[in-house]
Amino acid sequence: MERKDHDMTEPQGQSTRSIHGSRLKDQHGAPHMPIYNTTTFKFDSTQDLLDVAEGRRRGAFYTRKGMNPTIFALEDTMAAIEGAETSLAFASGMAAESALFAAYGRDGIICVGDAYGGTLELLTNQLPLLGINTTFLLGTELDQLEDALKKGPKLVFLETPTNPALEIFDLAKISELAHRYGALVAVDNTFASPVNQRPLEFGVDIVSYSATKYLGGHSDVTAGFLLGPAELINPVWDWRQNFGTSIAPEPAALLSRSLRTLTHRVRAHNASAHTIAEALEVDERLARVRYPGLPSFPGHELAAQQMDGFGGILTIEVAGDGEATRRVADRLELFALAPSLGGTESLATQPVTTTHHGISAEERTRRGITDSMIRLSVGLEDTDDLIADLKEALDAVEK
Ligand code: PLP
Repeated sequence: MERKDHDMTEPQGQSTRSIHGSRLKDQHGAPHMPIYNTTTFKFDSTQDLLDVAEGRRRGAFYTRKGMNPTIFALEDTMAAIEGAETSLAFASGMAAESALFAAYGRDGIICVGDAYGGTLELLTNQLPLLGINTTFLLGTELDQLEDALKKGPKLVFLETPTNPALEIFDLAKISELAHRYGALVAVDNTFASPVNQRPLEFGVDIVSYSATKYLGGHSDVTAGFLLGPAELINPVWDWRQNFGTSIAPEPAALLSRSLRTLTHRVRAHNASAHTIAEALEVDERLARVRYPGLPSFPGHELAAQQMDGFGGILTIEVAGDGEATRRVADRLELFALAPSLGGTESLATQPVTTTHHGISAEERTRRGITDSMIRLSVGLEDTDDLIADLKEALDAVEK
């Protein structure tokens, strides 16, 4: 089960790496690593077992530790796609984040900008019980980052684009500042995916994903990743194995299959979302369309520098109150009302009723989350059909 470590200088493109990124081979010549649906692996000798257990040789050992060929193959492929030295696969995005915060959050965390509701809950409600405290800085408070770093936290965590306002943060600038104070920077790159943005190229130390979204891409697998240099990712391995939060072999194989089409899917999501954003921007039943690809979007220039594509998510604000917005959401037919993103099917969600439901109205206002927002995850249906669905539903603004 020897692996050739990913060579970050290799000239192959991302689609090629998504198909050939894992060099692991099964003994029968299967074109892709099969599902090793087994909890344990046997050895020819005690020496052989110890070589693997003590890390002299990479080999299958015990699945809960992530030491399973199906999981290794997935991790190698994902590292190759991201251009990262190594990767760890988890049972969910939240499992990945939990391990990250446990491993690197002990001296305190700074969370920059808005984040997924579950992340905010973990940072606010659970981690302080373990003595892991977080300073929250909104995008409008970024000038306070240096002062916050001076107080000693050693982990800066952020999303860009953020959820659901799609705010864009300057990864190179934030990394440079954090490093001056000896802090690591971790970015949740779920919204962008490695096709549109590779934070490690801008000095970020660790990238995390909910693979449940674009990486899985079909709304049928829950998983997560951490990626980065081996010296930072390997220590998280112990947390994963003893929290027991590794991915299982079956979702790992499903995710490996999804990754083979990742670049093509994400480019199609990007193109469709861009066309829809342009079509909606001129619709008077909307107060605002947020999409990083629109020149009118405040973070557009930065997004154009730091991203290879603008993503498949746009957030619209209905020209009406929360009731009118609910009527629009309820009238959508192709866009399913569901709290996720990144799948082949288009989804719509009102952040006040889903991702940010657990957050007080006051805090939502502070974060710029309005009752009239609908976040759209543009799927892979025909763009014209999606535009027709949205235009039809917008008739519901007027009662
Ligand atoms: N990060 C982001 C940006 C998300 O949107 C989500 C889930 O919606 C998560 C993390 C958590 O991922 P999971 O549901 O796979 O645990």
